[in-house]
Amino acid sequence: MLSENIFLKILSKEIPANVIYEDDLCLAFHDISPMAPVHVLLIPRKEIRTHDLIGEEDVTLLGHMHIVAARIAARLGITEGYRLVVNCRERAGQTVPHLHMHLLGGRDFGWPPG
Ligand code: AMP
Repeated sequence: MLSENIFLKILSKEIPANVIYEDDLCLAFHDISPMAPVHVLLIPRKEIRTHDLIGEEDVTLLGHMHIVAARIAARLGITEGYRLVVNCRERAGQTVPHLHMHLLGGRDFGWPPG
């Protein structure tokens, strides 16, 4: 069972986060438990619980989030390479029930992923 949606509380400023970017559509903040020298989470303001619930109405939002992720990567100096990860549901490791992109960089990454 996924835990409560703590990211909604970050969006509403109910709990603090190390926010590095925000606009009308999305918010980005440093992951509290980083898996790489750079580990940023990018989340939509819209409440979407997981990736397989996105629809055609989210095309602009998701395209925008990809552009924002690339800009944040440039700003944080991980232009040699970065990884974007979206975990969908428990079996993929999703723990927070709010769609989020992990932006990871600052080290080498293996393939296949674990
Ligand atoms: P996932 O396992 O894909 O659902 O990713 C959830 C991520 O949220 C994990 O990497 C956690 O470390 C991160 N996380 C959980 N709570 C917080 C928080 N309060 N502030 C920042 N990151 C968090």
